[in-house]
This record gives sequence, structure tokens and C-alpha cells, in this order.
Amino acid sequence: MSDILYMVLPCYNEEEVLPETARQLKEKYQQLIKKDCISPLSRIVFVNDGSKDRTWELIQELHEQDSMFSGINLSRNRGHQNALLAGLMTVKDCADMVISMDADLQDDIGVIDAMVEEYEKGHDVVYGARSAREKDTWFKRTTAESFYKLTNALGGEVVFNHADCRLMSKRALEGLAQYKEVNLFLRGIVPMIGYPSTVVTYERNERFAGESKYPLKKMLSFAMEGITSLSTKPIRFVTTGGVCFFLVSVAIMIYTLVQFFLHKTVPGWSSMLISVWFVGGVQMIALGVIGEYVGKIYMETKERPRFIVESFINDTEHQIK
Ligand code: UDP
Ligand code: MG
Repeated sequence: MSDILYMVLPCYNEEEVLPETARQLKEKYQQLIKKDCISPLSRIVFVNDGSKDRTWELIQELHEQDSMFSGINLSRNRGHQNALLAGLMTVKDCADMVISMDADLQDDIGVIDAMVEEYEKGHDVVYGARSAREKDTWFKRTTAESFYKLTNALGGEVVFNHADCRLMSKRALEGLAQYKEVNLFLRGIVPMIGYPSTVVTYERNERFAGESKYPLKKMLSFAMEGITSLSTKPIRFVTTGGVCFFLVSVAIMIYTLVQFFLHKTVPGWSSMLISVWFVGGVQMIALGVIGEYVGKIYMETKERPRFIVESFINDTEHQIK
């Protein structure tokens, strides 16, 4: 018996794209079931993230017409990341593997075959990454790629050009369930779970209907959220800055004292200059030290699992002679 695949698609005001998305995915599922790649018990789950249009009515209709479609209705709009998590956590006990994708099918659905194939090979997490960003504007491409590089440089582990199109096995989802943090940045958390993983690439299309729910303002705050929820390194910069200022103050101190003894200064200049730099440096170091503790508290409050055991080999039957 082949494994059960659930797909989770968060939807916010997607009435224009839903019928077409449902049609294309159904076709894909029928092919996969026919080839015996996935079980006939597989489902396509739409998560309605508090839409203001007829999205939920459409999901209900789809479910009534065909049991391949399921729906989850959130009490109100909670944003893409939360809608996605709601979907993943709701279906994790019914499925062997779950693929998440956006409802606008910007991610190529051909990637589903490749992901299932990699899952069969024993990968617990298959990241869908965009091969090129040719269809993006220069601005979107540069900002997005810089974001991935910056996040990695700051110590967050993100897969380059991977958004939220990914396959996760049941045990990977159970790992994810142990991350209880509220400031959730899924694509940074999933690599922390571990287990064998791989990347498949695809080219992302343009939205075929409706408009993006991610304007620039939301994108910037999302990037900020990503960095600050994964890394406390920015705090370290304050400490480093403080130390730099302090070193400068020492240099300036030497310089001003030399000038002072050479009688090249006006009264008050030396003491003024030294105190400005010295006090500035000391204050910044102090802020950095406080920041280090705040960072520790921040990480503690997330209560992240410290480890996930993949296997435990232990023979309880045989007695040792
Ligand atoms: N979405 C959501 N809740 C929101 C905003 C967006 O569930 O508050 C969903 C949306 O329906 C889509 C996905 O998140 O399935 C990605 O949104 P969108 O396509 O607008 O973003 P873009 O592809 O332009 O970055
Ligand atoms: Mg989109």
C-alpha cells in the first residue's frame, strides 16, 4: 500500500484561483494514484485563513462534490505562516507525508512528483527551491536573495531560495510540533528539526489570477521577523560596536594627551573629547551586555526542543552473561 499524501494550501481571499487550483491538483492526484505513487486515501486540504470573500463556501462545495478535497476554517485571519502551521498540525496524524504549497499555484505542481520520489528514497524533508528567478522583477529578486544570504550570515539556517513549498514526513512534522514558539518563521525552523533532507528545484510561475497578498511592507516585516526570531546576533553587534568605540576612545585619549602636552590645545578640549568617546563606548558595552542576557531570555522563552532522537537501538530481550 502506497503512502498517504496530504497537501496543505493556505488561502486568503482566493476565490478567483480556487476552482482552477482544485482542478489542476485533482488531475495530478489522479495520475499519482493511478501510478500507485500515493494512496487513494490522500487528500488536498485548503486552509481558509479568515477570507472576506467566498473562499470558504467554495472549499465546502469542493468537499461536498469530491472527498479528495478537505477544508480547515480558521476563526479569523492569522497570516500565511500561522495558516500553514494550522494546516500541518491538523493533518499530521492522518498523513504519512504532507506537501505545503500556496493556493495560487505559483509553485510548479510538477514538483509534487519529484518530492514524492525523494520521500520514497528516504528523505524526511524535501525543500522546493526556485531554480532561477527570471520571472521576478530585478527588485524582488535582489531583495529576496539578499535576505537569504543575510539570514544565513546571521546564523539562521535557511535553504537558499526556498519559501514554503516543501514536503515533510510524519516524523518531521512531529518534530515541528515540538517547537512551541509564537514568532514562527517556518522556513528557519524546519532545517533545525534534522532528519535526512534534500532540495528539488522548480521554476516559479506568475499568479494566474487575483493579486499578491504580500506587498512590500508585509515582505519587509516578514524578513525582519525571520531574522529576529532566528538569531540574536544583532545584539552581539551592539557589544562589538561598544568595544570598537572603547578602543577608539583609548586612541583618542593618547592623541589628545600628546596634543595637550605639546600645548596645541584650547582649555577643555582634551577632557571633553576623551569623555565623549569614553562614556559612549562604556554605555554601548553596557547595553550590549544587557542585550546578551535579553537574547538568552528570548531564546529560553521559545522552549525549543534541545534534541530529537531519530533512533534508539537497544536489545531488551537478551540477558548479559
Ligand atoms: N495567505 C494567507 N493568509 C494571509 C496572506 C496570504 O493564507 O494573510 C496565503 C495566500 O492565499 C497564498 C499564500 O498565502 O496561498 C501566499 O500569498 P501570496 O501568493 O499573496 O504571496 P506571494 O506569492 O505574492 O509572495
Ligand atoms: Mg503567490
